[in-house]
Amino acid sequence: MQAVFWGVRGSYPTPGPDTVRYGGNTACVELTSASGERVIIDAGTGLARLGDYLAEQGELHQPLDLLLSHLHWDHIQGLPFFAPCHHPDANLSIHALRPDAVKLSDIVRGVARHEFFPVALDDMAASFHFHEVHPGRAFGARSFDVRPFRLNHPFGAVGYRVIADGTSCAYVCDTAPFDLLLHKKHFLKGPEPLSAADRRSLQRRKASLLHAIAGCDTVIYDTHYTQDEYARFPHYGHSTPDHALDMCAGQGIRRVVLFHHAPNHNDTQMDEIDAHYRAKGDLLGLEVVTAREGMVLPMGPGRRAPHMRPGTGP
Ligand SMILES: [Zn+2]
Ligand SMILES: [Zn+2]
Repeated sequence: MQAVFWGVRGSYPTPGPDTVRYGGNTACVELTSASGERVIIDAGTGLARLGDYLAEQGELHQPLDLLLSHLHWDHIQGLPFFAPCHHPDANLSIHALRPDAVKLSDIVRGVARHEFFPVALDDMAASFHFHEVHPGRAFGARSFDVRPFRLNHPFGAVGYRVIADGTSCAYVCDTAPFDLLLHKKHFLKGPEPLSAADRRSLQRRKASLLHAIAGCDTVIYDTHYTQDEYARFPHYGHSTPDHALDMCAGQGIRRVVLFHHAPNHNDTQMDEIDAHYRAKGDLLGLEVVTAREGMVLPMGPGRRAPHMRPGTGP
């Protein structure tokens, strides 16, 4: 199995000279098995470039599973621009958590409401299939075994452990650490003191996340903030590289990928973050890699080192 990073940024796209080396598109990761099957995790603006790639390869008709962590803009905005959506032979299975009482299919259709986009999802050429995700309930997506787990994010998010070719990759994004409870009122007003029941709920969620990622070859983790930034915005639902390394150390995990970079972190800051946490990872026995747009990450036995897709990067 290998991962290709088509978008690594959080919140909103950041094109321009200051982000050219790490990339400006929002979250989208493609996992490919040795047999050439693929699942896509998140549909941020990076998804549009993946669609262009599939068109170049003549693979628009291949059935695709799209796993969404949640439905915030930076994780769905590439969907209407994804070339397979406009191909009559394409079959897209969209898997996501239903965040409220509205049907999942209606929520996803909202991305292409006529006020936002000229072609409604129902008028697009592809066939769409919607699958509600339930944390703790595994499912198959072609040859991939997918195990969703609950994260700590305003209005809810799920992570995924994806297993193929005898190896595992976990996607943990978006999530805050598990020392404050996040829901709507906290996002608007800031955190409130925790009740004993809140504390137990957070501990259960943390334990289930640790169980879900234990033994993974690679864990892709939301490391949006620096420690200083996190101290100012703890209730926005994101973690830091320190949180990610704390969670992953001692869990039999080989590699942690820093991901969902804050939009205000330019290439120079990203270089500093990369150097600092690679050194910290060495001390903890973890290989730390900072995600870059266009990066290819082979996983499992006999893997090659991370490298860039031909024609990507500055
Ligand atoms: Zn996000
Ligand atoms: Zn989010």
